[in-house]
Amino acid sequence: MRDLLGGKGAGLAEMTRLGLPVPPGFTITTKACIAYGRSGRFPPGLLKQVDDGIQAIEAGSGKRFGDPSNPLLLSVRSGAKFSMPGMMDTVLNVGLNDETVHALATLTSNERYAWDSYRRLVAMFGRIVKDIDGRKFDAILERYKDKTEGKKDTDLTADMLRQVLEEFKSLYRSEIKVDFPQKAQDQLREAIGAVFRSWGGKRAVDYRNFNKIPHTLGTAANVQMMVFGNMGPDSGTGVAFTRNPSTGAKDLFGEYLANAQGEDVVAGIRTPYKITELKDHFPAIYDQFVRGAELLERHYRDVQDMEFTVERGKLWMLQTRTGKRTAQAAVKVAVDMVREGLISDDEALLRVEPLHVVQLLLPRFDEAAKEGARKEGRYLAKGLNASPGAATGCVSFDPDEAERLGLEKKPVVLVRIETSPDDVHGMLHSKGILTAHGGATSHAAVVARGLGLPCVAGCEALRIDYDAGEFHVGERVVRRGDFVSIDGTTGEVFEGAIRSIDPDFDREEDLKTLLGWADEKRRLQVWANADYPRDAQRARRFGAQGIGLCRTEHMFFESERLPVVHEMILAAPEYRRVSAQRRSVAADLEAAKGEKRTDYERRLESIEPTFRDLSRRYLGSLETLGKLQKEDFVGVLRAMAGLPVIIRLIDPPLHEFLPNYETLLVQVTKLHLARSDPRLLERTAASEEDRVFLDEVQEAGKGDLARGIERLIPEKEILLAAVAATREANPMLGLRGCRLGITFPEITEMQVRAIFEAACQLKREGVDVHPEIMIPLVGHVNELRDQRDALEAEAKKVMEREGVTVDYKFGTMIEIPRAALTADQIAGYAEFFSFGTNDLTQTTFGYSRDDAEGKFLLSYVDRKILPFNPFQSLDREGVGQLMRMCVQKGRKVRPDLEIGICGEHGGDPSSIELCHELGLNYVSCSPFRVPVARLAAAHARLKGEITLTEDR
Ligand code: PEP
Ligand code: MG
Repeated sequence: MRDLLGGKGAGLAEMTRLGLPVPPGFTITTKACIAYGRSGRFPPGLLKQVDDGIQAIEAGSGKRFGDPSNPLLLSVRSGAKFSMPGMMDTVLNVGLNDETVHALATLTSNERYAWDSYRRLVAMFGRIVKDIDGRKFDAILERYKDKTEGKKDTDLTADMLRQVLEEFKSLYRSEIKVDFPQKAQDQLREAIGAVFRSWGGKRAVDYRNFNKIPHTLGTAANVQMMVFGNMGPDSGTGVAFTRNPSTGAKDLFGEYLANAQGEDVVAGIRTPYKITELKDHFPAIYDQFVRGAELLERHYRDVQDMEFTVERGKLWMLQTRTGKRTAQAAVKVAVDMVREGLISDDEALLRVEPLHVVQLLLPRFDEAAKEGARKEGRYLAKGLNASPGAATGCVSFDPDEAERLGLEKKPVVLVRIETSPDDVHGMLHSKGILTAHGGATSHAAVVARGLGLPCVAGCEALRIDYDAGEFHVGERVVRRGDFVSIDGTTGEVFEGAIRSIDPDFDREEDLKTLLGWADEKRRLQVWANADYPRDAQRARRFGAQGIGLCRTEHMFFESERLPVVHEMILAAPEYRRVSAQRRSVAADLEAAKGEKRTDYERRLESIEPTFRDLSRRYLGSLETLGKLQKEDFVGVLRAMAGLPVIIRLIDPPLHEFLPNYETLLVQVTKLHLARSDPRLLERTAASEEDRVFLDEVQEAGKGDLARGIERLIPEKEILLAAVAATREANPMLGLRGCRLGITFPEITEMQVRAIFEAACQLKREGVDVHPEIMIPLVGHVNELRDQRDALEAEAKKVMEREGVTVDYKFGTMIEIPRAALTADQIAGYAEFFSFGTNDLTQTTFGYSRDDAEGKFLLSYVDRKILPFNPFQSLDREGVGQLMRMCVQKGRKVRPDLEIGICGEHGGDPSSIELCHELGLNYVSCSPFRVPVARLAAAHARLKGEITLTEDR
């Protein structure tokens, strides 16, 4: 019914059927609108049907359309299948003209009201049917209002309204070059055409694009007898919801305005009263309305948003539709309605959008406060909504400063051109992150989502000047220490503070009930990506059933560990080279005889000090890191006792842990230049970075610059050479993932040792642990085989030494197309697969995940070259196809292969639906997304069932 009659038409028909007082009328179907859109003409027979419809209304009302003594007045309202509030047009009071206006005045004994209605028709008709700029009508009206004492619409006298009408008609004539049409039939026909045309208006098209409503549906046109709320004090108009749309409380919620038409309520021209006022003034009508509202809610089994009018003491229902609601209300209403026996728990689940859950669990701006900020002109720019939630804080461009302020409990928003692992300590202590570059899987976005911090990334309108400590947006300047507010849910950035609301999962009882139903329904498990024990604990509280990704390298980034990591990386290549040399000489020595032996012995001896030094630096650093990692693993495994924990071995390119090459090069150059003139460093210290470097030199020389320079030159040169040696043109495609563990097996050994030592310790304590060790970035089965051999050997060693057996799994990430294509071979060596869809998207599209969004991807989406951002939602046709093939091939070889996803898509509802369809075992997402994923997984199952039923 809604397809043909639109939401409003269907609602009117239903209300009539239920016996509610609905003004007589008829609905012209969406089909007619589609035909009109195609040809610009009404389809044959339509006008005849309209005439018949009018006759029926006339018969019911005893009035006649266009009759100068007892005129019927009509409204023509749009109404599409899906509600598009305020996006399309409506014309009221159709049928008024220079004659009928007098009849109306006589019949109602209210001259003022008659002129008021007529002037409204001329303005509405002029604006909507003839495209006259509405401000021209407003200007005339304002001029008359200014002449009154109260300066309000209601202060205008009948005489003034007559003059307003005359001016409106002149304006109409001068704009359109013909008079305002006097024939009621002409008015009606044109009004219907205008309502149909409004389907194709810009506002409506934009709204449909945004809300993904098909453009082919068309709108219906509802023609109804006008009823008037502005016929005096015993008339009025109102809107009401059957329940509170903000909180979900079961109270009639709405507003009523006496002696007014519906548009006055919507336009906010006069402040309406609470609906309870109606109860005080007209208790009988109020009771009738309440009974009608209850009937409608029971009938539709959902919150209704109703419009009504009281005309001289008689109630008329004008509209009913499903009430839009906040996240909080959606959850409460769904749960309450199940308890009231109105809906099933499956229906309740489908009534709550995953996005509602996101909104409920994040700090969010008070909408009114945000609107206020916009009105005050504090809106600055819009970037990518990289991590949802709201944050207000003072601007800091420096992670060290952000950390310091954060520790002092000052709210900070860290603003960076883009972030890097070096910034994490500052991010940890910030309320939110704002970057000028980078996309949905940029470092800032991934880390922020992991930490549950709001993040607006890739806000290209920002011109950040670190040295000046300010950023510019056009002419506007925001300085270090100024307050900004960022909305990670929408990507908006504002100047100044905006009030926000803080949620608490443990107190969201209704949400927990709903998610309990979701857990019973869903087939997919929900795991979490967590790197630290505190993340794991949080994930568990939110309902995670395992850890799908523990990125071990994140543990390296903590500031006290970074120097050890540096040492390890810097010594690694040399260690490998020298130890290979040493092995070869030793082998030669073993094979050699006589003279030659002494020669080899001497060579071995000469290598030994370097080898010892490198061993100390490389293996020693690894040992230190291993001890720290073991403690981390103990924490994570303990927090997840009884549940699986997938620990991934080191993945990112090594240079990510080292200082920036360009910065080092500049420093070394400066040091050389300043050798003969140390003060040069002071004279040229223009930026914050220069000043930090100057301090470092001073410190190295204990206050003596020249000494500092001499001390630092060799140190920095070694570092520069090492950084240069690890530099790659395409680090994302370079020495990273399992390639690291294969090149530097000692790193794999250290990590595996740490995992098993942690697991053994916990098992001895009686904690139930289930580690699963995952190898990243595998493209060829031999890579996996190599790492599996290394891992098994080390695991065995530790378990034997500790005398404990740990139940573990070995598996791989699937994030290179080749791995997906050869999944059957890979499954021979892996007990589990986990789709790393960040890299899999990057490598399938050939788009750099660090750069694409900042450079072209968002514009691709804007220009519809891509339907959406594939780093946010899985690309079904490409990446999804690889995944499907991979699941099939993998399970053919190993039917019990455990398969999940741990890329950012694991928390995205539409991607979760795909994962359900592909038969994955679990999705893994950031802890804050776990509740969302629980609901989305239940939706996927429910929607699957609905599709099956429909197919049948
Ligand atoms: C991935 O690539 O999807 C993934 C989870 O790994 P990372 O983001 O750490 O590269
Ligand atoms: Mg990856």
